[in-house]
Amino acid sequence: MQYDHIVVRYGELSLKGRNRKIFTHQLETNVRKALHSYPSVRIETQWDRMYIRLNGENGDKILDRCSSIFGIQNMSLAFKVKNEIEEIKKEALRILTETEGVRTFKITTKRSNKNFPIGSQEINHVLGSHLLVNTEDITVDVHNPDLEITVDVRSDATYLTSNKVEGPGGLPVGSSGKALLLLSGGIDSPVAGYLTMKRGLALEAIHFHSPPYTSERAKEKVLDLAQELAYYGHSVKVHIIPFTALQQTIHREVPNGYSMTIMRRMMMRISEQVAKKRGILSLVTGESLGQVASQTMESMFAINAVTNYPVIRPLVTMNKEEIIDISKEINTYPISIRPYEDCCTVFVPKSPKTKPRLEKVEEFEKAIETEKELANILDNIETIEIKTEQKQQEWDDLF
Ligand code: ATP
Ligand code: MG
Repeated sequence: MQYDHIVVRYGELSLKGRNRKIFTHQLETNVRKALHSYPSVRIETQWDRMYIRLNGENGDKILDRCSSIFGIQNMSLAFKVKNEIEEIKKEALRILTETEGVRTFKITTKRSNKNFPIGSQEINHVLGSHLLVNTEDITVDVHNPDLEITVDVRSDATYLTSNKVEGPGGLPVGSSGKALLLLSGGIDSPVAGYLTMKRGLALEAIHFHSPPYTSERAKEKVLDLAQELAYYGHSVKVHIIPFTALQQTIHREVPNGYSMTIMRRMMMRISEQVAKKRGILSLVTGESLGQVASQTMESMFAINAVTNYPVIRPLVTMNKEEIIDISKEINTYPISIRPYEDCCTVFVPKSPKTKPRLEKVEEFEKAIETEKELANILDNIETIEIKTEQKQQEWDDLF
């Protein structure tokens, strides 16, 4: 069946009071960007829902694309008809007869347009009778129908919908500002990025790269992960940090057990500087409490001490299975498990201190000319902007 509209319902963002306009406006922008390869669709945003007029485009494809846009609670394919009972009857009958395998149905009417002359109970009744009279072997089941037709009588028109597709919920990407994600090639940080976007933050990413100890392929892997994340937020800028020289200095100057903590502190300092330059107010990591040596409370305390920026750690209380489940859902898992060398694993000792003491860390760090090293690094950042088009193309090819 060829529908003419998609009705998009907002979830949480309907609760945002006076800020609601900001949210609905951002959602509209995000939907427009995601659907830019369907130039004929038209989008109309109302205060409690959005209408996508399909103009002949494939509704299922568009539903699928929209199912990754945060801020959408659920959606339905819909038919728009005039506010006339005869029109509504005709369309409801068409939906019932053209939907396969239906033995039982139910009509649910919402009449927000109080000028419409017939009440919602009566519309249910009129439509129910019309459908029963004009079909055979089909009955009403109000509890567990094969098909529920929802009739939404609004001021401009009536929309008939027959099924609901869940959206991802959350808040529109960009409506909460921007965060800088510390993106490694591992399983955790892409998931952390995804969950951050779900709370309405757009992302830029920062990756610490140590050639020749880490290869071009390790960098490509990170860009591929950013590509997956861009699907949820249109584009992700990736800042590649030349980390080799500083890691060599740390390796040379600092006792082995402390090099991991100090390397992480350097990562935080550099990330904060990049965030500051880009007008970004928070950092995001994939840290999860107790997972590895650098993720004990003592370690996090010593690492965190170098920054006043909010550090968002969406995974902090999750266990590995939960994180892996999400990474499979969002397609980053197969990329994350590609073999690669991480800058941390190359330089870090087999047994780093799990309970580093802050005073000792600060003492050992004095052997490094931190300011000079950081200035060098900050002058040599490579920034790559990853856009969603490529992914969109792969996905279009599937249909
Ligand atoms: P992940 O699976 O995200 O790599 P992990 O379990 O391997 O995490 P760590 O290696 O301790 O844990 O890294 C903790 C966090 O530090 C990562 O989630 C990521 O946010 C950041 N991080 C680690 N290595 C890098 C890197 N090379 N570039 C950017 N961020 C990094
Ligand atoms: Mg890692």
